[in-house]
Amino acid sequence: MSIGRTILLKLADSPFLNRQATQRAFVKRATKRFMPGEAPEDALRAAQLLKAEGRGTVFTKLGENIVVPADADAVRDHYLWFFDQLAASGLDGHVSVKPTQLGLDLSYEQCLAHLFALAARSEAIGKILWIDMEGYVYVDRTLRLYRALKERHPRVGLAMQAYLRRTQADLEGLMDVHPIIRLVKGAYNEPAAVAFPVKADTNRNYFDLSDRMLQAAAAGMCTPIFGTHDIELLNRLIARAKAHGASDKQYEIHMLYGIRDADQRRLRSEGRTVKTLISYGSAWYKWYMRRLAERPANVWFVVKSMLG
Ligand SMILES: Cc1cc2nc3c(=O)[nH]c(=O)nc-3n(C[C@H](O)[C@H](O)[C@H](O)COP(=O)(O)OP(=O)(O)OC[C@H]3O[C@@H](n4cnc5c(N)ncnc54)[C@H](O)[C@@H]3O)c2cc1C
Repeated sequence: MSIGRTILLKLADSPFLNRQATQRAFVKRATKRFMPGEAPEDALRAAQLLKAEGRGTVFTKLGENIVVPADADAVRDHYLWFFDQLAASGLDGHVSVKPTQLGLDLSYEQCLAHLFALAARSEAIGKILWIDMEGYVYVDRTLRLYRALKERHPRVGLAMQAYLRRTQADLEGLMDVHPIIRLVKGAYNEPAAVAFPVKADTNRNYFDLSDRMLQAAAAGMCTPIFGTHDIELLNRLIARAKAHGASDKQYEIHMLYGIRDADQRRLRSEGRTVKTLISYGSAWYKWYMRRLAERPANVWFVVKSMLG
């Protein structure tokens, strides 16, 4: 792992920097590169522009590790309101949630109850509810949540992280529920005991896991979503999909708003299903630091914003 990435991910956990950054106009300006605005309406407006290009959207309200049960209730209620906006919008839009934003640190049962409420509403309007994968300590509980949800609501998807050594076994363990999986490389600061410290190993694992999912997709047992901006890797996966006999409609490509935008448009124009994940909300500090850590050169954008 690069030193820049490690330092930025450590800084992501600083409450002091969180307070400082979110009050500074120039940092706020720099976030514009990765999010259209803090209000849900900003996200919905940006999604309409993407729709005109044939791109779908996944929305997420930023925030994680809530510490008061009422905050989890508020997040659930927000998303229930948001589903009404989605239903009225005509967008191919879906929602992605973090379990700790719905109180997983406080109560597994309560978090599951919130997720059931969201999955039911999401399903009623024909959408997929996405569950993000957070830090390593949450993996077991998140897999349990996913299995419980998937038994009642088929249209629920789960993010899995290719940097974790355990993911191959976890993926096999889920095949019986015909999972919908968004495979990502992984955004947290994990020790070498559980995560590959060398990027090439993560990339190799990403390819192997994707290959397995494409094989299962061709047999109708899995829906793979590639959540990556790694174009070289995507090109190899598109070739593997063909080799396995998985059609273009049997997998999707998801990327983040503001990253590799030209490639998102190109992939769409080549007939792939492309969705853009749009974040909104005021709790952007940790999430923004993770975006900087993915490409430490991004720190330059903050400096440029500071200079006006
Ligand atoms: C749709 C989606 C959902 C995600 N959900 C989760 C989740 O639930 N849990 C989780 O742990 N992680 C999640 N992530 C983040 C993911 O784990 C990676 O940290 C992130 O996608 C960067 O890895 P990469 O696959 O793009 O590959 P990389 O090898 O990191 O990047 C490939 C190329 O993409 C470009 N790029 C990548 N990141 C950036 C950036 N921040 N700024 C500018 N250019 C960049 C660069 O050109 C880079 O060379 C998600 C990512 C996506 C796209």
